[in-house]
Amino acid sequence: MAFLKEPEPEHGVALPVVPGVRRVVARNPSQMTYHGTNTYLFEDGTGGVTVIDPGPVDARHVDAVVAAGNGRIRRILVSHTHADHVGATAMLQEATRAPTFGWHASAAASFTPDHPLEDGAAVAGLTALFTPGHAADHLCFEWRDGIVFTADHVMGWASSIVSPPGGDMRAFMASLRRMLTRPHRQYLCGHGPPVPDPHGHVRVLLAHRIRRERAIARAVTRTPGDTYTLMDRLYAKLDPVLRRAAERNVLAHLIKLEAEGLVTRDGDLWRSFTTID
Ligand SMILES: [Zn+2]
Repeated sequence: MAFLKEPEPEHGVALPVVPGVRRVVARNPSQMTYHGTNTYLFEDGTGGVTVIDPGPVDARHVDAVVAAGNGRIRRILVSHTHADHVGATAMLQEATRAPTFGWHASAAASFTPDHPLEDGAAVAGLTALFTPGHAADHLCFEWRDGIVFTADHVMGWASSIVSPPGGDMRAFMASLRRMLTRPHRQYLCGHGPPVPDPHGHVRVLLAHRIRRERAIARAVTRTPGDTYTLMDRLYAKLDPVLRRAAERNVLAHLIKLEAEGLVTRDGDLWRSFTTID
């Protein structure tokens, strides 16, 4: 797959993304988070700033976001409750007194939004789009002109990890398909650079998942195995650091195939009696 890379951005400062949107990249780079989490500062059109995803627990990052907001931060939006996005919420709220917004059924006991959002809710000129799959409480935020804050649902630099039980492959693929029904033109992602051709990118991601799922189903049909063994067979050349993430994705596909009646689970062993072409 062709992914979009970018040079490591400067951390601790607000960098322009598109007119009305800046980002502060957190200092949490890793093989799962790329150069770090993007915390967006969005001009709400009435002189205020809306923060989308405070980022990980890191006082220096919060200081940089507060400085970039220059006393105008009025709202804090949380795309989903993974620690690299929601971690700094309490610190940022303490510093700004701004109310928080997020999916009404938060998946983390540590976070309850002040303003629970439903699918389609309007907030600060954005529309919440419920997109479960990467996380059970994942929201994208649609803006005007087809610009969307996609957080970790769709990213340009890598495919998203779908790790059960919070991650759900059936929901994820349905949420990907949902993106294709919307008039989107540019994605601003939770990590890495913007995606300029969103529908083309989502189609490639979907095709990749479907191919991967068929390969998993074929592997189970040939020889039953536990999740790790199946991952090992399919990702033999993969970087060891990424193997755990790959195992989670394989497990998510297996659970989906099980729900669809194509594979069965026998203790740790997955097997299939169906012929999959
Ligand atoms: Zn993330």
